[in-house]
Amino acid sequence: TQNSDATPKAEKDLRSPICCIMGHVDTGKTKLLDCIRGTNVQEGEAGGITQQIGATYFPAANIRDRTKELKADATLKVPGLLVIDTPGHESFTNLRSRGSGLCDIAILVVDIMHGLEPQTIESLNLLKMRNTEFIIALNKVDRLYGWKSTRNAPIVKALKQQSKDVQNEFNMRLTQIVTQFKEQGLNTELYYKNREMGETYSIVPTSAITGEGIPDMLLLLVQWTQKTMVEKLTFSNEVQCTVLEVKVIEGHGTTIDVVLVNGVLHEGDQIVVCGMQGPIVTSIRALLTPHPMKELRVKGTYLHHKEIKAAQGIKITAQGLEHAIAGTALYVVGPDDDVEDIKETTMEDMKSVMSRIDKS
Ligand code: GDP
Repeated sequence: TQNSDATPKAEKDLRSPICCIMGHVDTGKTKLLDCIRGTNVQEGEAGGITQQIGATYFPAANIRDRTKELKADATLKVPGLLVIDTPGHESFTNLRSRGSGLCDIAILVVDIMHGLEPQTIESLNLLKMRNTEFIIALNKVDRLYGWKSTRNAPIVKALKQQSKDVQNEFNMRLTQIVTQFKEQGLNTELYYKNREMGETYSIVPTSAITGEGIPDMLLLLVQWTQKTMVEKLTFSNEVQCTVLEVKVIEGHGTTIDVVLVNGVLHEGDQIVVCGMQGPIVTSIRALLTPHPMKELRVKGTYLHHKEIKAAQGIKITAQGLEHAIAGTALYVVGPDDDVEDIKETTMEDMKSVMSRIDKS
């Protein structure tokens, strides 16, 4: 296959890592996403950040700019970071088929005032099951009584500026939460004290309201993925793609919103997706992304593409998508592939989908 390229190139062609935000309700998942996106995303004025279908793209230059106060050796090798827009939604929690692995890394959000909550533990179990790397955002540090805010400050700097009382409360709550993680079988540690990344999970204290710790979180995500996932992030010609949502759009009929994890999709590609009544074989009529200058949900504002390279969030229009199932993998039929083989693989996915639907 195209993957078995044994000769390592000096600079590998890496794709952007894909990140999901998970955690208990009200821990601040949505707010964290808003905070890292900034406010002017729709106008395309937020330092090159672009709204995609179901995801937000952060170019490396934006991340470099926002993390410069950390003075880290921020040699960014990845082109950027793709963050899935819908925290706790189908995109991750209900991914149905084996073939639909989506996120390279997750942010598990914990409210510093509440510690581990039922859905935190659910998320943890999902992450373990899927073998997905994650970091922990210990959010809402600004709610510590007496917290003095410094907008978007690196967390070490922000903590130094706090009174002894605030620092004590922070340390007490942190220790409690580390103990709670231990009870779940996980070692955790503040990220800048963590000498055993990979064995010990990193905690980044954050505020989604005042932005402390956000630079740290961005840098950690990018550095950790590019350091430990070079193989996985190496650009491949083999398409890896997950259906996030099935939607009817006026003028386009039933469309699917997908995240292209790896590879390239072309207009006209023959594809196979999971359907309620069996595999759907169809071909891509159009590859669409939001118009950069328009609000995402305004009608008729899509850009058409002849081809799109991973990692990206894309809307696909094609015939026969009415019964497609979200959370499953999309396959491309290559020139050397047998459609029947691919339909069979899709059917395998179908079985696991159906067994889950039966259970729920
Ligand atoms: P989600 O359910 O996890 O997506 O949580 P939201 O992002 O909707 O946040 C829940 C509530 O907590 C909202 O009222 C937010 O304004 C608030 N919130 C989120 N993050 C922070 C934070 O860092 N500090 C403070 N003080 N409030 C926060």
